Amino acid sequence: MKETLAQQGATYGYEDFIGSIDDFENSYSPDINPKTYFGFPLIPILNAEKALLSTDVKSVAYFSMEYGIAPSIYHSFGLSRPLDEKNQFFNHEVFSNYWLCDYIFKIQIDKTLDIPLYGGGLGVLAGDAIKSSADLGYSVAGIGILWNKGYFKQNFWYKHGQVPEEMTWNPRRYPGLIPLKTMVTVKTKEGELHLRVWKYYIYSWDQERVCPILLIDSNLPQNPEHFRKLSDQLYRSDHPWWKIFQRIILGIGGVKALESVGYSIDCYHLNEGHAALSILEKYISSEEKNHPGSVRKNFVYTCHTPVAAGHDRFPVGEVEKILLPEYGQAAHQFGKEFPHSDQINLTFMSLNTCPKVNAVAVKHGEIMRMQFPLFAQKIISITNGVHIHTWMSESFKKLLDQYESVFGDWRRSPENLSRIRDLRDDQHFRQNLFAAHQVNKRNLMTLLKPWGLEEDVFTLAWARRIAGYKRPALIFHNFQRVVDMAYQLGKVQLILAGKAHPNDNIGAAHIDEILEHIDAVNEHGKVIKVLILENYDTYFGKLLTNCVDVWLNNPLPPFEASGTSGMKAILNGVLQLSTLDGWVVEAEHDDIGWIFGYRHQGPDIGSEADLRLEEDSAALYQILESVIRLYYATNRQGTINAQSPWLDKMINCVARGGYFNAQRMMQEYFEKMWH
Ligand SMILES: *Cc1c(COP(=O)(O)O)cnc(C)c1O
Repeated sequence: MKETLAQQGATYGYEDFIGSIDDFENSYSPDINPKTYFGFPLIPILNAEKALLSTDVKSVAYFSMEYGIAPSIYHSFGLSRPLDEKNQFFNHEVFSNYWLCDYIFKIQIDKTLDIPLYGGGLGVLAGDAIKSSADLGYSVAGIGILWNKGYFKQNFWYKHGQVPEEMTWNPRRYPGLIPLKTMVTVKTKEGELHLRVWKYYIYSWDQERVCPILLIDSNLPQNPEHFRKLSDQLYRSDHPWWKIFQRIILGIGGVKALESVGYSIDCYHLNEGHAALSILEKYISSEEKNHPGSVRKNFVYTCHTPVAAGHDRFPVGEVEKILLPEYGQAAHQFGKEFPHSDQINLTFMSLNTCPKVNAVAVKHGEIMRMQFPLFAQKIISITNGVHIHTWMSESFKKLLDQYESVFGDWRRSPENLSRIRDLRDDQHFRQNLFAAHQVNKRNLMTLLKPWGLEEDVFTLAWARRIAGYKRPALIFHNFQRVVDMAYQLGKVQLILAGKAHPNDNIGAAHIDEILEHIDAVNEHGKVIKVLILENYDTYFGKLLTNCVDVWLNNPLPPFEASGTSGMKAILNGVLQLSTLDGWVVEAEHDDIGWIFGYRHQGPDIGSEADLRLEEDSAALYQILESVIRLYYATNRQGTINAQSPWLDKMINCVARGGYFNAQRMMQEYFEKMWH
């Protein structure tokens, strides 16, 4: 079958493409024609399909449990009919120390809901990786799961913290998403699991190239009810049964999906161990047993976290209840840390089988080699990056274009951002740089208008997944200190956002604690405004990383493998107030802001539970005082002192964006992992 499909590759055309789509005539013909695909050019799709079908082109399959693609901020597809109500952004509520306002107003965003296939930074990174692959013209297909109910919808209830709610959207009517006729079946001890394959296309910034993402879906009438729900919720974790089956869909279903669409894959990239069962599928369906190593050599693995909760381990008994004996045996062979272990460990399986393995920052590489000494030799570091075309604001893009003689073709060569240093002594440029920042800041103020934020007031944000080691409530540890500063040095605006995993009670407790702290500063609303926004997502991710003055990042070292939100911020001249962890270690001497708190050293990783809140909050307050002073020496009620060192730091930030971007990252993957 593969032969004939590969031969088809040479002649693959429009008819083949629409012939592959389920219910094309009724549902998709208004938006797809020989010229366009939901308002985008169709030719790049045919080219990408041809390349993936061809045995002459080296192609990569990139497996990821989640994808944060964010069409609301990058390449929104068009739709010829009105948007389904379920695919519209829902209203976001705000909890602030101005509760009357929270009560009356909600944030309304009049856009297509971002396709809800992600939970946090891992997914956003996967989205950025595929986008940059398209930019670079690599032949890459993403593999993921079509989460019929997304991750979850977050509500804040005072005195309760986070109350999760099931999310709904309509995949059949989502712009740019198409169901294929292709179906695959995975056999298990619990019966056959039927899966449908969908596609979503990611265009390069100039719309000349694309990469597809294959999305696998178990919500089919031919499946029993409990199987249909498997692809409902990302990271459902109330029983190992859900987790094991979701990983079967991604790994085993993923390999079968690639084969059934006929793609000729040379390299299988596991973005996290979630997809490790793909190794078993290739192993069992191949000649590997006769030619040891022949299959495994094509796999590469990226590990994204040193935190224990990020590594999948399942009781052998649970795995054996589900996997057919052949697969079970292979799972024993590759996935047990030691012969008598009663767990199948997907991290170990990936480390054990993949000849190439990478950590996501230099520091994370060190930590990973400590954690897995047996595999230390093959662990390299490829530092994360972010997709510039998604995360840089319009006002900054415009500014770079104004100085074309300096930045040249920065859209194709993002490393050119480092040339911003040549403009350091240009007073006019420094004024323009701050003005571009103020444009972004005003966007935020407009969205949050009812809360009366001010553009010339010092604004700080903390926004990311709510997880213990990220210390979401660090700044609240002795919040009176910050209130005092607001009275003594100038007003302060603090904005927070983030979701905790719905089964993470500690995370929910953090949110409850934050709500309490916010409520406690009600009477100081004249000098300090504190807001936490519901449903942190890629849309808010872009808004906040663009618009505030300072980005607060305070994970407990060394548990933040990389972190990427700060990279989005530096592209927009937003200064970093950070502990020394993840990517920040590589920018320690670049003067992109301020570094504070505990420094990790030595061969011991330490404990995730020892949060060092007392010492590190004290360090934070001490440095925050000088940050606020410098801010008000730079922005004097709207009069900008462009000679201020604040502007030098902004310049250093943008300059480092020339390195911490996803194009550089994907070039490294290409050279060091895929070759
Ligand atoms: C970038 C991003 C993240 C990652 O943030 P970190 O600071 O790296 O944890 C998480 N969520 C969303 C919505 C993002 O856009």
